[in-house]
Amino acid sequence: MATLDELKSALRQKAAATSSLRQPLSEAQYRDGFDLLTRGPGWTTYQDFIIPRLAEVLQPLFAARIRVSVLEIGPGPRTVLGYLPRRLRRKIGTYTALEPNSLFATQLRGWIASSSSPTATSSSSSTLSKVGLAEEEESRLPCLESAPDIRHIPFVTQAMETERDGSTTTTTKTTTSGGLDDHDRKFDLVLFCHSLYGVHPKTAAVRRALEMLVDLPRDGLVVVFHRHPLDPVVDDDDGLVCHRTATFPTGVVSVPDADDDSDDDKAALDAFAAFVAGFTTADETTRAAWRGVCRDLGRRGRLYPAALVFAAPETMMAFTRAATTALPELAQAGVPLVLGHGNQPPSLRTVKNREARVCRPTAIARPTDVGGVQACVRWALRHGVGLTVVGGGHSGHCLRPGVVAVDMDAFDRVSVVADGPLVWAGAGCTTGDIVRAAMAAGLTVPLGARPSVGAGLVLQGGIGHLARGYGLACDAIVGAVVVSVASGEVLRVGRVPSQHLPVGAVQCEEEDDLLWALRGAGTNFGIVVGLALKACAAQTYAVRSWVVPLRNRSDDGRQKLHTFDKLVASVLPQTSSSDAYLYGSGNGDGLCLGVTLFETSAAGADNHHGSAHASVLAAVLGPETSVQRVDDIGVFETDMYMSGMHGGHGGGKTSSFKRCVFLKDIGEAPIADALVAAVATRPTPLCYLHLLHGGGAIRDVAADAAAFGSRDWDFACVVTGVWPRDQDGTEAARAAVGWVYRVMSELLPLTSSSSSGVYGADLGPDPRDAPLVVRAFGPNGVRLGRLKQSLDPRNVLAHACPLPRPPREPKLIVLVTGDHGAGKDYCADVWVSVLTNKGLSARAISISEATKREYAAATGAKLERLLRDRDCKEAHRPALTAFFQSQVQRQPRLPEEHFLHGVRNAAADTNVLLITGMRDEAPVSSLAHQVPRSGLLEVRVEASQETRRGGPSSKSDSTPSDHRPCLVFHNDTNGHEAVQDFAERYLVPFFHEDRQRLARMVRRIPNFPREGIEFRHVLDIAQRPGGLALCTSLLRSHFAGNWAEVEVVVGCEAGGFVYASALAGLVNVRLALVRQAGKLPPPTFSVERFSSHISSMAFRDTTQRIEIERDVIPRGAFVLVVDDVLATGQTLLAVLRLLDKAGVGAESVAVLVVAEFPFHQGRKLLRQHGFGRVSVQNLLVFGGA
Ligand SMILES: Cc1cc2nc3c(=O)[nH]c(=O)nc-3n(C[C@H](O)[C@H](O)[C@H](O)COP(=O)(O)OP(=O)(O)OC[C@H]3O[C@@H](n4cnc5c(N)ncnc54)[C@H](O)[C@@H]3O)c2cc1C
Repeated sequence: MATLDELKSALRQKAAATSSLRQPLSEAQYRDGFDLLTRGPGWTTYQDFIIPRLAEVLQPLFAARIRVSVLEIGPGPRTVLGYLPRRLRRKIGTYTALEPNSLFATQLRGWIASSSSPTATSSSSSTLSKVGLAEEEESRLPCLESAPDIRHIPFVTQAMETERDGSTTTTTKTTTSGGLDDHDRKFDLVLFCHSLYGVHPKTAAVRRALEMLVDLPRDGLVVVFHRHPLDPVVDDDDGLVCHRTATFPTGVVSVPDADDDSDDDKAALDAFAAFVAGFTTADETTRAAWRGVCRDLGRRGRLYPAALVFAAPETMMAFTRAATTALPELAQAGVPLVLGHGNQPPSLRTVKNREARVCRPTAIARPTDVGGVQACVRWALRHGVGLTVVGGGHSGHCLRPGVVAVDMDAFDRVSVVADGPLVWAGAGCTTGDIVRAAMAAGLTVPLGARPSVGAGLVLQGGIGHLARGYGLACDAIVGAVVVSVASGEVLRVGRVPSQHLPVGAVQCEEEDDLLWALRGAGTNFGIVVGLALKACAAQTYAVRSWVVPLRNRSDDGRQKLHTFDKLVASVLPQTSSSDAYLYGSGNGDGLCLGVTLFETSAAGADNHHGSAHASVLAAVLGPETSVQRVDDIGVFETDMYMSGMHGGHGGGKTSSFKRCVFLKDIGEAPIADALVAAVATRPTPLCYLHLLHGGGAIRDVAADAAAFGSRDWDFACVVTGVWPRDQDGTEAARAAVGWVYRVMSELLPLTSSSSSGVYGADLGPDPRDAPLVVRAFGPNGVRLGRLKQSLDPRNVLAHACPLPRPPREPKLIVLVTGDHGAGKDYCADVWVSVLTNKGLSARAISISEATKREYAAATGAKLERLLRDRDCKEAHRPALTAFFQSQVQRQPRLPEEHFLHGVRNAAADTNVLLITGMRDEAPVSSLAHQVPRSGLLEVRVEASQETRRGGPSSKSDSTPSDHRPCLVFHNDTNGHEAVQDFAERYLVPFFHEDRQRLARMVRRIPNFPREGIEFRHVLDIAQRPGGLALCTSLLRSHFAGNWAEVEVVVGCEAGGFVYASALAGLVNVRLALVRQAGKLPPPTFSVERFSSHISSMAFRDTTQRIEIERDVIPRGAFVLVVDDVLATGQTLLAVLRLLDKAGVGAESVAVLVVAEFPFHQGRKLLRQHGFGRVSVQNLLVFGGA
């Protein structure tokens, strides 16, 4: 199937050959052509790519604005904005469009004005109207503050004006307005959806659009959608840095053609061809020739038999104002940069992958030290842009159009650390570099089969000939130095030899998690600077190869694979491995099976003679075709593709595309048949399957012990599409890639989802990778998704292997604590049923289950009985407690890990998770930052001795505590009623619509007060219509204390003043105000206050004093402190100290805040300073910093 671009040039060539007179398209001809492109599969591109991607990229911008102003260039008869989710459409306050086609401009006016009735107003509307409109009651842009401003004029760039005027004058007011006459108008969003065709240079249009964005805040967006095989917008200039990019390589468009030369077909083909060529002709000979070109190049698909289909890959690029200014800043930071010049891409020295080489990154940064890598990361964070990382350059994802790449080439040192033994490898080293250096010390590291592959292999798995004996390459990682993409800090992870530890490196807070993630999914969480790898003794290899033709393909193939698998592969010792290849024979369509047997021994030993396994293979396959004895370097050249198959190296210069699925039972009918059938249907003679031997040490590691979660397989089947390099970008190349995905989709259902899966290396943003990603990390996907959010919260490494999106954390986590026998489990069960009856998904788990499992494993006790049988539980209770305590002594973070494990394993749809059995002191203050997006409550169940199950003799477990649970339930009444009432009163309101409404009033403001910070404008609630009243009413109704006891409401400036005053008025309680020192008349009490979260970011760290008037609070009164935000807790701590001075102790204070940011651990600070017994409540919880 040709691309639209290929069709365009073929049509133009044909027109040139017939010397026909070119005529510009009339508006009606343009409309008819446009209509064809948005029908059928063309509309699928809108549904599957344009609309969801646009919604995704606009989400943060729209969330940060009360109203959004939009300029759309060339929208056509309808605006794609009208298909966005309602919550986004409702944000659009003003809409301006520049539409050069008067027919479209008229249609667009009508379409936006029309409300729910999707009456078709033109042929082009028929397709677009099918989606979404019918059930709508309101107009497409329902919250416009003024009528849409649709102008029948083109968008004009300075270059166009210069060309038109024949002048070379510098930019004037007119030229910066893009065609608008009101020059100073600025927009939050400028959108080009398929409207950059014919604009040259495209970057000039983007630059001009960027100038039309509002000056502040600087998060306004220019978004471009364009049909093009590659990088459409950055291809004719350099220097524009993309904020976000996405591609849709499988996009297609079609034109109806039943191939019967009916008048309808002719008319459709003529309209389509003229639209694609960009001009029309009155000459019937040329038009007939064009129809022939379309039929020659288009494909009739199964889905569209009466249509010609053309490939139309789609790209999205989004830019902020930083697009033009960011790059010079990176250069100023002293990082060596390689830039493209004019049409030249930046130098691609280290990039081998063809898919990557054709991308045009904005620049390649070549840092020479860790500081340089940090500078790149900090730059990306400051400007809200992504980065790619280049290791060995073998994947398609190390370069992306419009993105800055960080090339690790300079980190090329390898050294051997005798103690271990370990090999320290810089992230720019290749497999060959590492093995060569290790061999010099008599060592090796289990890596892959090709010497030129880089760090991406180690970080994502690494399957090689030593894997059965020593594990995957990622299993050898024992330590790393990583530049955090959350902060730019240098992190030490695991074991790093001191001489390789950069100055200023800090221990990673989530060290265990990061080390775990680096072992199999390590390209997603930071830029790895160097790795400590466990080494083993250098090896020698006896390598024997066989090649046999497959006669009666299916039967012969199945039988030979069966024999190979059962008689050889499955019985080989771990020191040996055997790979198989299925490929086409030199000429004709015959197939061959190649087998290579690798038998290893420590270097120097010679025990390779007369291998029994070689004899078995010889008996089945005949005599070997080659026998070699090689070392760890020599073994690289024994790969059959390199040495023999297709004449070695594919017989010349080739390009390839690979995906890899893990298989078992390759000799059994369904799999063996599918493998043989796959090779038989290869679209180019060079495509092949490589089956790499697994098992052994790979399987010895538990699936959840490292991120690489697929372990239980026998063969890694690398489906390899190969084509001659001179056919790059042609139909042959596309067919080979399509074949790889088709074979993967055929093999995947034959694997067991619980054991086998897909190799994560090289999976990328192509939608065809999506079903593979789901199977890439075995049981570890959810944990990886969550880690991505915490370790790369700004998605700096947006182009690495996609990870499964984590299920949302429960909205509310309730820790049910209390003495033994107080009825915690009983209460939790009742609360679950109350919440479930309200339509919420709730479940209760016991945290002690994990300990019971480990205890059962250690002592041989029966787990089932420990979990279910009360007598058994009681009998083991003392021993279990002692076991847990000894575990905690060894692993102090164990309770936290058990908690996180419980939360992670909660089902994706759980709204409320109740956890019983927590033994931690003050669990909310110690754990809240671990689940920063969830509300976390501790509910303590208390019961009198009589009520408690152990009866009168049962002693309370309580010791006097320095913390106060959020809520206390007195479980002394018989029956369910009181327990149910408690849930109705305190848990159900958490989900009240008003609370959600309040949350929606809090805007996100990116890069405020500093670049890189996303500010939540909590005080803005008070500026929204009805916001203050709603917030105050919620503060009153959600207060868990007794209003009758509250004598004073205290508010601290500035946010506290607003909410405390309103609340004090509502509940008619006296108000006391805390101000900066010097602002209140004496006498006052005053204390020092360290700067709060936001002020410490906005200004230099400062210390101020705050004060309160002496007589405003009666000594010993009960006080409610109200504030807008609890983040680091510095302000609240100062207020509590002030109250203490005023004679109000912690027992007499409660705190209500509108929003809490648990990430900053404010509660922990209060507790550390002796205020753990102050009750703190919030209305809203926000994740992030
Ligand atoms: C010819 C060939 C042979 C192969 N042989 C094997 C094999 O024998 N065994 C095997 O398991 N796999 C093999 N592969 C697959 C290979 O492991 C992946 O293609 C791997 O991604 C390549 O890593 P790279 O560093 O060379 O490529 P790159 O494209 O440079 O990197 C791959 C990914 O890793 C990221 N990355 C690279 N360096 C860093 C870093 N320092 N920090 C963070 N992220 C980083 C990149 O951003 C990219 O997303 C082979 C691939 C090819 C093309």
